[in-house]
Amino acid sequence: MPELPEVETTKRGIEPHIVKKSIDSIYIGKNDLRIKFNKNQKNNILDTKILGVRRRAKYILVDFKNKYSLLIHLGMTGNLRVADNLSLDKHDHMAFSLNSKKHLIYNDVRRFGLILIIKEGEKIELLENNGPDPFEEAANYKYFLGKIENSKSTIKSILLNNKIISGIGNIYACEILFASKISPSKIGSSFTEDECKIILKNSKKILNKAINAGGTTLNDYLNAEAKPGYFKIHLNVYDREGKDCKNCGEKIKRIVQNGRSTFFCSKCQLK
Ligand SMILES: [Zn+2]
Repeated sequence: MPELPEVETTKRGIEPHIVKKSIDSIYIGKNDLRIKFNKNQKNNILDTKILGVRRRAKYILVDFKNKYSLLIHLGMTGNLRVADNLSLDKHDHMAFSLNSKKHLIYNDVRRFGLILIIKEGEKIELLENNGPDPFEEAANYKYFLGKIENSKSTIKSILLNNKIISGIGNIYACEILFASKISPSKIGSSFTEDECKIILKNSKKILNKAINAGGTTLNDYLNAEAKPGYFKIHLNVYDREGKDCKNCGEKIKRIVQNGRSTFFCSKCQLK
């Protein structure tokens, strides 16, 4: 699944190709995405200059001069690419043809993603359900502590809860806890200020590393220029069950929490 680093990489990848351009026409495939594209709004974004591209949590927003935006979520298997030719394969569900003669193409095998036209100021529940991501100023330790101090949930499920902090998926949650030397089973209400600071610091550090590497290798994510995004970031704990901990040599363990695999070192992550 594309996680925050892949979304950020995609955003950075498409940005230079679409900013200051406009869309001449839109191809809409016959299969709907998770939420049906609101094509009745199409004329609001055609032939209008694109001012910029933003990321909010795991959403990409393409902003037009007239205050309309395209809201894009990559779902489980979505990816965007910029192509010179409009040759589409069966999982290419939408394509935006630009006045530069290039095409921004949305591919999504499982169709859990979405693309919608929205207007500035419009209340979008999808966006409002997301807490700040670790890079946003609002995601400071006071906010985080306030959200978890009465929580009986484990820190692993807290990190995966997008309503608290958005954009941390399973791989990165494991890596963040390993780097923080904190047990994935530690309960929210037992966290100190310092531990909250450590978690947030490592969240930024690890996500940044992944962004700089262009995303992880563990999915069928493609970067924006259709080169496979198979960069390898250095994973210290994820998917390393039975292998030696890189800090202490203890065997990495795997447990299942809320239906998701957690990998951790029982010796290093004692707190
Ligand atoms: Zn260890």
